[in-house]
Amino acid sequence: MKEVYPWQEGLWERWIELRSRLPHALLLKGPQGTGKLDFAMNISQAMLCESPNSRGMACDSCSSCHWFLQGSHPDFRLIQPEALTDSVDAPNEENSKKKSSQQISVDQIRALSDFSNLSSHRGGYRVVLIHPSEAMNISAANALLKMLEEPSEGMLFILVAHKFQHLLPTIISRCLTIATAMPSPDVSIKWLEQKGISNPMNKLAWACFAPLQVIRMESGSDISIDFQSLFDSLERPDTLDATALAEQLQRTEPAKVILWLQQWCYDLISVKLTGTSRFMQEKHKSLASISANSDLIELLRFQKELKVAKREAQHPLNAGLLFESLLLSYRQTVMGS
Ligand SMILES: [Zn+2]
Repeated sequence: MKEVYPWQEGLWERWIELRSRLPHALLLKGPQGTGKLDFAMNISQAMLCESPNSRGMACDSCSSCHWFLQGSHPDFRLIQPEALTDSVDAPNEENSKKKSSQQISVDQIRALSDFSNLSSHRGGYRVVLIHPSEAMNISAANALLKMLEEPSEGMLFILVAHKFQHLLPTIISRCLTIATAMPSPDVSIKWLEQKGISNPMNKLAWACFAPLQVIRMESGSDISIDFQSLFDSLERPDTLDATALAEQLQRTEPAKVILWLQQWCYDLISVKLTGTSRFMQEKHKSLASISANSDLIELLRFQKELKVAKREAQHPLNAGLLFESLLLSYRQTVMGS
């Protein structure tokens, strides 16, 4: 099994209670970067395991667990957008060049109908995990709805959602919902320290307090590239290409990008007023030279602009344009032109 994170212990107990009166569909909703997919994988493996332990956890050694861990269990299907599958299979390839789909297609859902009509290979449950379920396009969602309306015996659908409000209400109403919360910073920091992550408090703040996001950033997967290139560019406002950078940042959630800009701006003001930085200590030298050349009133104005942008970032019409205008405004703030 994958790790049951310390902040998921209660959630696991809740799941064990549910097991005795299992619904046909579960919706696991909550913020991204907190381990919902790992939790759903653990549930799936435990459902299929031949000898789970006293806490209902998979044994990792029976033949069912063996298949599951190899990704070849005949009674399990993981449905994800192509883009996610590609990045898991070939993390080092330049996937960005070949545009894989970010959606779950109707064909992926229709392919399940054969699976749901068969009886299970191992005489137990069949489990379908859909991640993230809000990535289903409307035809896919309707196809799934049909399956949920006429559930097959012994079949469990697990829907993982970062943004459950984007799901069809008719799908939500057919699922038993388990809500997960963002772990408290104390719990996350302790866990990150155990993982050997240096400076966990700052990194957690950069990652909008999602502990697994910190691990992804540290391991150099996609987000960290955006994160690095943003700060590398902010460090050199004279050569900052707002259009190109804005386009690159579109892959990242607007709220996150704005938070990073806010932290950078906070540090510029902090260095100017007190000589110390809070979030970006390793870039202190650059912060000091940029803030020395900037006008405090202008920095405070930019900080206010970011605050407004953050409110509006919930539903930006065009994230690229929003980023571009903020980056141009940043340039103007620190370059005075
Ligand atoms: Zn097992």
